[in-house]
Amino acid sequence: MPHLAVNDVRAKYGSLEVLKGITFSIEKGEIAALVGPSGSGKSTVLRALMGLTPITGGAVDIAGETMNYSSAKEVRAARDRMAVVFQQYNLFQNMTVMQNLTLAPLKIKKWDKSEVMSEARRLLGLVGLSDKAEAYSDQLSGGQQQRVALARALALKPQILLLDEVTSALDPELVNEVLDAIRKLADEGMTMVIVSHEMAFVREVADKVVFMDAGQIIEAGTPAELFDTPKTDRARDFFSKIL
Ligand code: ADP
Ligand code: MG
Repeated sequence: MPHLAVNDVRAKYGSLEVLKGITFSIEKGEIAALVGPSGSGKSTVLRALMGLTPITGGAVDIAGETMNYSSAKEVRAARDRMAVVFQQYNLFQNMTVMQNLTLAPLKIKKWDKSEVMSEARRLLGLVGLSDKAEAYSDQLSGGQQQRVALARALALKPQILLLDEVTSALDPELVNEVLDAIRKLADEGMTMVIVSHEMAFVREVADKVVFMDAGQIIEAGTPAELFDTPKTDRARDFFSKIL
């Protein structure tokens, strides 16, 4: 049984259908990378999974359970199982790193404080920021802030993590520290859907590459299949320009 199955998902902005039936699946611990030109609908796939953009057709299964986004309660069910990190790390500015990580687990989830604190410390270790627990976000570099954002998403114990161009806003010298943190998550067996322009990284970590254009999946397969022997002209054309 796939850990995540996206089945013929459709989404619209107004009358414009921006997802025209998206279907892919990944097993537990696998990473799918969504790639494709700007405006092809990659972010909308992640937004639809989180219930941020309404799904107008299709369904999403997580560990065999069908997520039905038809009510606030159903949207919450999906959000309980997934977390997303966007390009712009929106940390709470007037709080320490530790407060950023523990706010939602304590105040919204109402989880046990000592467990929340110890999990937050474990996650800071995972992203290499154990020494920054008491720092405020404006004292951190962009790469450090994005690693805090990753840890904060993980503090909610998602089954599936969604990452939307999390390195795109960073200075080049800060990209690798964030990619290293994602590699560690991959090693821990986190199931992820990532949108990334870092094709060397995608080739290294992704189990499946999903190439999108104009709201549709044009071709999907292993990184080697997509990058080295694409079957469609559109994929061949896209990868010949960026690889
Ligand atoms: P990508 O992430 O691949 O660049 P997006 O999912 O952001 O693509 O966008 C897909 C399409 O939806 C584009 O045509 C974009 O212009 C449109 N779009 C995205 N967000 C909105 C919005 N909030 N309102 C209207 N159209 C949008
Ligand atoms: Mg996008």
